Amino acid sequence: MENIQTELAKIFKGELDTTAETLDFYSHDASLFELRPQVVAFPKDADDIKAAVNFVNQHKAENPELNITPRSRGTDMSGGAIGQSIVLDISKHMNALHEVTPTTAHVQPGMMFKDFDIKTIEQGSILPSYPASRDLASVGGMVSNNSGGEKSLQYGKTDNFVTELSMVLSDGNEYVVKPLNRDELNAKMSQDDFEGNLYRQTFELLDKNYDEILAAAPRVSKDSTGYHLWNIWNRDTGIFDLTKLFVGAQGTLGITTDIKVNLVTKPAHSGTLVCYMRDINQLGEVIPAVLAHKPATFESFDDNTLWLSFKFFFAFIKKLGFWSWIKLALQLIPDGLVLIKGVPQLILLIEFTGDSVDEVKHKIHTTRLDLEKFNFTYMEEDETEAKSRKFWLMRRESFNLLRSKVKDKHTAPFIDDFVVPPARLTEFLPKLRVIIKKYNLLATIAGHMGDGNFHVIPLMKIEDPKERAKLEPAMKEVNDLVISYGGSVSGEHNDGMIRGPWLKEMYSPNVLGYMKEVKHLYDPKNIFNPHKKTDADWDFSFSNIRKNF
Ligand SMILES: Cc1cc2nc3c(=O)[nH]c(=O)nc-3n(C[C@H](O)[C@H](O)[C@H](O)COP(=O)(O)OP(=O)(O)OC[C@H]3O[C@@H](n4cnc5c(N)ncnc54)[C@H](O)[C@@H]3O)c2cc1C
Repeated sequence: MENIQTELAKIFKGELDTTAETLDFYSHDASLFELRPQVVAFPKDADDIKAAVNFVNQHKAENPELNITPRSRGTDMSGGAIGQSIVLDISKHMNALHEVTPTTAHVQPGMMFKDFDIKTIEQGSILPSYPASRDLASVGGMVSNNSGGEKSLQYGKTDNFVTELSMVLSDGNEYVVKPLNRDELNAKMSQDDFEGNLYRQTFELLDKNYDEILAAAPRVSKDSTGYHLWNIWNRDTGIFDLTKLFVGAQGTLGITTDIKVNLVTKPAHSGTLVCYMRDINQLGEVIPAVLAHKPATFESFDDNTLWLSFKFFFAFIKKLGFWSWIKLALQLIPDGLVLIKGVPQLILLIEFTGDSVDEVKHKIHTTRLDLEKFNFTYMEEDETEAKSRKFWLMRRESFNLLRSKVKDKHTAPFIDDFVVPPARLTEFLPKLRVIIKKYNLLATIAGHMGDGNFHVIPLMKIEDPKERAKLEPAMKEVNDLVISYGGSVSGEHNDGMIRGPWLKEMYSPNVLGYMKEVKHLYDPKNIFNPHKKTDADWDFSFSNIRKNF
């Protein structure tokens, strides 16, 4: 083969780019890794993706390093959206909305969530599994990472909403994947072709090891690790649903070309109870007390996030517009005065929704009365979200602020997404703080409290070998602690290069073996997104930590 670009250009309609500027840009996502691609390809349609897969299959023997990393908006925090061969950016052309109704949508994977959201809201509905990166990410990225966010407490993650996917698989053909009943499954399994073989072998693996696989599902409300084999085949309902395999697979099993999802009605009104918590030792009692009131959302962030947001409050101008920003800045004055009484360790945001302002007001007030026993330093009832908007901005924007505003250090997401059963947080959090202190990590902590899902983002000089040397031992201690509490190392950001190497700690050798078997079955030549998830190893990941900022 001459060169990838020249050869691929013969069969590919979209643009192919090998300029240094483009390769630099695509060498990074929001993770702490860098992998430089050889070419960035922008498929016009599914036929282009099929052509790229066929091209790789054809030339794999002579060029074993040839592979494809699908990518959308590149906000992946785990290193999932970078690769060393062909990066296929589906967001440039494959971003159309085919159809939206009040209950469903049919969309191409590259559509930005924020544009999708405008269209669904016109129908009175939302896809509620959106991430904090809702203004940056695409619907396809959400599907491939099985993203979740502030509304996941009430609605669950993206896998709950996907009803059908179109996928280009490793044989270079496009297939429709959706839940099948037993007759439909039998029909698929009787096919004498690539697809029939996939269904047969997947079913055999899952049915033969049914109880062991079911028992391996993490016992927390959110998880994005491994392949969710336990959700595919359900003997009780007789439903076999391969969307559950591809959602969250990070492009390691195939490339998504089309997505159908269910939507939920956007709540008419929402409001927030804000609580300043000085002493986190009561968390174990506070969480169930809050959850008993069935909030729509239960989020938190720490004192470091609060200070950071004050320091960089100016940056919110762009997001809000000048006058809204001034209004919000004025609102901060009374909050600043409250802080004189003592800086809270955690700020809790407890959101309620309802059909009327009065209903929301009532829910907030009842919860406040119940929570008064916990001696929070401050509580604010906001039945319209007008006053609490500043706190939601801080919660949603903290990681982005850190990425863009702190110039002398860099965000190092390596313990950024663990989940611990909420009831055990009182015991867990002090132990976590000890580890953070031991490694002298300057970190912000924000989280989805109701799910026990925490985002700890240290700021480090990663280019300094001494700082880099902290990564593995600190990660090991945190992950071991999380697993010892029956948690998951990733609630929503997925494995990629950072947590793939830890799957052997999360799962038994047998269960990890089944996941690897599935990867091999769907992608026998390892052409899709190598070095991620079950194919990851720490030596490779560590040797590709970002050095250029
Ligand atoms: C500031 C910030 C906040 C974040 N907050 C959250 C959060 O709250 N919750 C959360 O879940 N995540 C969060 N993330 C991570 C990330 O933004 C989300 O997971 C998002 O959904 C990824 O979308 P994307 O379009 O950027 O996908 P990309 O980063 O482009 O891709 C994500 C993964 O999907 C694969 N992929 C992309 N397109 C396809 C395709 N068509 N077919 C197959 N595979 C594909 C890629 O290979 C990659 O592995 C955050 C990131 C940032 C920077």
